[in-house]
Amino acid sequence: ESGRQGWLERLKQGLRKTGSSLSTVFTGTRIDDELYEELETALLMADTGTQGTQYLLDDLKRRVKVAKVTDPAQVKGLLAQAITDLLQPLEKPLAIGSQEGPTVMMVAGVNGAGKTTTIGKLTKHLANEGASVLLAAADTFRAAAREQLGVWADRNLVEIVSQEGGDPAAVSFDAVQAGRARGRDVVIVDTAGRLPTQLHLMEELKKIKRVVQKADASAPHEVLLVIDGNTGQNALTQVKAFDAALQLTGLIVTKLDGTAKGGVLAAIAMWAKEAGREIPVYFIGVGEKLEDLQTFSAQEFAQALLS
Ligand code: GDP
Repeated sequence: ESGRQGWLERLKQGLRKTGSSLSTVFTGTRIDDELYEELETALLMADTGTQGTQYLLDDLKRRVKVAKVTDPAQVKGLLAQAITDLLQPLEKPLAIGSQEGPTVMMVAGVNGAGKTTTIGKLTKHLANEGASVLLAAADTFRAAAREQLGVWADRNLVEIVSQEGGDPAAVSFDAVQAGRARGRDVVIVDTAGRLPTQLHLMEELKKIKRVVQKADASAPHEVLLVIDGNTGQNALTQVKAFDAALQLTGLIVTKLDGTAKGGVLAAIAMWAKEAGREIPVYFIGVGEKLEDLQTFSAQEFAQALLS
């Protein structure tokens, strides 16, 4: 638990840029229109989005009325509750091993989002839980991507299926078969975030998904998107585009250390709610090191945001 405590401190530090303008809203003496206007601006600046901001403001006003609160400091507590409730549907543990053979996770994300680093951290997390992992380097276009994944494989002492210049879908297929043959618990498929040719990225990813399904009819069991929390509304745009193409089963939000746009999680929750999509945030990234990947807790996040 002490590790988690330390991490919470880091999340609080990391979200300070997002939370400081939110917190100053509640330093006044009166609960009036001015307070709500300042809060609206602060939420929009935190990249909570227009709909998410409106939803939170309405919900907060209702809570203030019900609780008959008169002190702005107490409104802050009610906002933390409103944010927690909005984010709650995003909270879900990543489960593995509910089927015969390996749990196959396809991991997507635009270049620079932190995908490769996250796969390294995720591998460590799964190994800590006692799972054996096989990595597949399906970004066969970029030599650097293969090499970087190889470094994480070495660090975690896991095997990697990789083929220079090979077909990404074929590499993925081979990896799923190898994972099954070798009795691995998890196969993580690292996909390209950008292609060097005019080939359409989404078509390439859809093909990988289709071919993985040929290797194991129940796979992929997870289609994860890694997004950079620092990119705010852009991250939400990516979630929508990748979900439309691949039917995402989960998200990992990176770089929540030192971001002014931490409110994007509320924007994502709001979108999911309206679209009727259940896409949990399995993990959040709060640093560049192996242990800087943590399970997402709505309450902890809301509290860190407003601490
Ligand atoms: P990819 O192109 O999506 O595979 O991205 P990389 O995994 O190469 O990461 C891009 C950069 O972001 C690297 O410098 C990583 O160390 C950094 N990075 C990844 N995750 C985090 C995070 O949670 N926090 C911080 N501060 N940096 C991160």
